[in-house]
Amino acid sequence: MNFWDGETCEYCNGAIIEKRVTLHRKVKRNYILIENVPAGVCTECGTRYFAANVLKMIEESVRGKRQAAREVIVPVFAL
Ligand SMILES: [Zn+2]
Repeated sequence: MNFWDGETCEYCNGAIIEKRVTLHRKVKRNYILIENVPAGVCTECGTRYFAANVLKMIEESVRGKRQAAREVIVPVFAL
């Protein structure tokens, strides 16, 4: 039994399964990665859904209220 059992996608009505995903967020001029985020992912169209408490954690990470687990330097190339 998990949070997404029995839930269906609001776009295509596909089944939603729980997966751990990595999110990318741009914060001011930096990109941050949030790893291991539990998300409901539609098996048909891939739309991601997040539970309210997870969204709150994401928000706190973005606002810098949580300590980063580790930092990585991301090389960015532009032409
Ligand atoms: Zn869908």
